[in-house]
Amino acid sequence: MSNIKIELTQTPRQKPDLNSQLPFGKYFTDHMFIMDYTDGKGWYNPRIVPYAPLSLSPATVCLHYAQESFEGLKAYKTKDNKLQLFRINENFSRLNKSNKRICIPELDSELCIDAVKKLVEIDKDWMPTAVGTSLYIRPFIIATDELIGVQPSKNYIFMIILSPVGSYYPNGIEPIKIYVEEKYSRTAPGGTGATKVGGNYASSLLAQKEAAEKGCIQVLWLDGAEHKYIDEVGAMNVFFLIGDTIITPELNDAILPGITRKSAIELIRSFGVKVEERKLTIEEVAKAAENGELKEMFGTGTAAAVSPVGKLFYKNREIIINDNKIGNLTKRLYDELTGIQNGDLPDKFNWIFPIEGN
Ligand SMILES: *Cc1c(COP(=O)(O)O)cnc(C)c1O
Repeated sequence: MSNIKIELTQTPRQKPDLNSQLPFGKYFTDHMFIMDYTDGKGWYNPRIVPYAPLSLSPATVCLHYAQESFEGLKAYKTKDNKLQLFRINENFSRLNKSNKRICIPELDSELCIDAVKKLVEIDKDWMPTAVGTSLYIRPFIIATDELIGVQPSKNYIFMIILSPVGSYYPNGIEPIKIYVEEKYSRTAPGGTGATKVGGNYASSLLAQKEAAEKGCIQVLWLDGAEHKYIDEVGAMNVFFLIGDTIITPELNDAILPGITRKSAIELIRSFGVKVEERKLTIEEVAKAAENGELKEMFGTGTAAAVSPVGKLFYKNREIIINDNKIGNLTKRLYDELTGIQNGDLPDKFNWIFPIEGN
């Protein structure tokens, strides 16, 4: 199908204990995918090679001005040892949207999907075995012009690396405590919030650090213009069960369009529960909590799938949600979503991309 060259390693790396509780994003597999781009020539030389460090000039433009985009998804192993991907087509269409926003040339999604499948197939021995574990897949693009100048690069490399990761919830799902951020902004109207570009995450670190000093694991981001409307929670999309309705902020140019978010909306609707995508203020949530109408709150993203929120720290007060326990709807969503991803439940929405040859 595609002309990906393959060079297998002669010196396989030492694997961590794949049955242990692997930390997120610390170990990498034996191979990586790489492809080059030069203006006028387009993308060329797609290849899978032994995992190795890159050699870059200190003047490489991405190191200075963050012209970089990325994606994050997982390969899952089913009970009968088949490997599968979840909605990977969405990841590469989103990557191309991110690229467009920061002037990176478009990639061929079909080639990218093929590259992921081949790479996972080659490094399948790195797949951890326990329930809830996976191979995390990180595609990314960096601008590689040797130039200290703020302008779109003429050269890029696109890469894919794989990392075996443990279960996000080795001790069972525990609700998290979140700090409502009223000082810092993650992004702004007209900014890059709706894209997965490296610069967004550097700018979120200080808020996260200060929230941690207050005993919170993440921050609830409010809109960058007024700090009034809810955007996201950490690097997850956010949902509230208020009365009988699930409410999630409607997408705009500040909110990352999560694939887990999109899937959660479809799943919850399939439960017969009403879902509204609309603007939602932090005041509306605080009032709903006061009136006893705020029943559940959770974040969604590839890393955790679904993450219940048990406490909100807002204006020096603590709002406790559902007694700081995971709610019934949150639990059902978690079970059904991860069930489809792991192949324990039927793929009724056609979300699964099997990896052939398994
Ligand atoms: C990646 C990401 C998400 C979640 O997206 P998924 O496709 O569900 O993994 C949400 N918010 C931010 C800021 C992200 O970077």
